[in-house]
Amino acid sequence: MKTSLLIALITLVISTLLNAKPAKIFRVVIDPGHGGKLVKGKNDGTQESHGVSHNNAKVTLKDGTIILEKDIVLEYAKALKTALGKYENIEVTLTRNDDSSPSAMMRAAIAVDQQADVFLSLHFNSGGGKGPRAYVVSDDHFAWQYIHFVNPYIQRDIVLATHIVKSLELAFKPFGGKKSKTRVFNDTVEPSNDYGLGKGNLIDGIRSIGYARIDTHLYNAAVVLLEIEFLDTKGYSEFLTGKEKDKVMQQAALYMARAINDYKKAQVLIKKPIPARQ
Ligand SMILES: [Zn+2]
Repeated sequence: MKTSLLIALITLVISTLLNAKPAKIFRVVIDPGHGGKLVKGKNDGTQESHGVSHNNAKVTLKDGTIILEKDIVLEYAKALKTALGKYENIEVTLTRNDDSSPSAMMRAAIAVDQQADVFLSLHFNSGGGKGPRAYVVSDDHFAWQYIHFVNPYIQRDIVLATHIVKSLELAFKPFGGKKSKTRVFNDTVEPSNDYGLGKGNLIDGIRSIGYARIDTHLYNAAVVLLEIEFLDTKGYSEFLTGKEKDKVMQQAALYMARAINDYKKAQVLIKKPIPARQ
């Protein structure tokens, strides 16, 4: 047999074997923030051990309907799960499927159990701003529970956070959505702007992603807290709850799903973390 023919044959056998290998499943854990009923001292944000308040943002519509963050994030989480369903080799798990209230540690534990590639905590913002924003766990002094922590995987978090925020901006633009001045916040008590990030305040939702990063050492995932939009900004946020709310949500879900799939394709390029700053 000629050498060239032999090489061609070997190449064919190898490529067949490679193709036969089952594709790696990319696991996404979506965490609809908050949930459950208010129990004093348990989920009102005062109890560090539980770490998740039952609700945060809320808005009262003209007809008196009250929209709670805990409900709308669950709807968005389910829509995102459906939208991700059209991509191959992606499996999605929600940290809650109903109005329950898993602790921050429980939510992170689900991501660890799944060996998640993405842990995305979904929230809506309040307080009068505009535009989607994301938070990542600091690579600086993360002061929650007085842990001095360095997050060497922040690059991965920032890539997903930035891409998903930009995608949401595009999704909301036709409905009047605006951009936030700062897209990604580094959640720390000390300024840390080496990555051009804004300085975030400690918010209760960050504990879910803090647990995922710190207590459970979920190091292979991109860990991001996403504030989808401001729920209560008068003269602005109505597109989220008005007549077109379902269309808006579907659009957001499609764009977020595409951003996650883009990250899935790109993550091989950023699998090595950059060394933490000393
Ligand atoms: Zn929230």
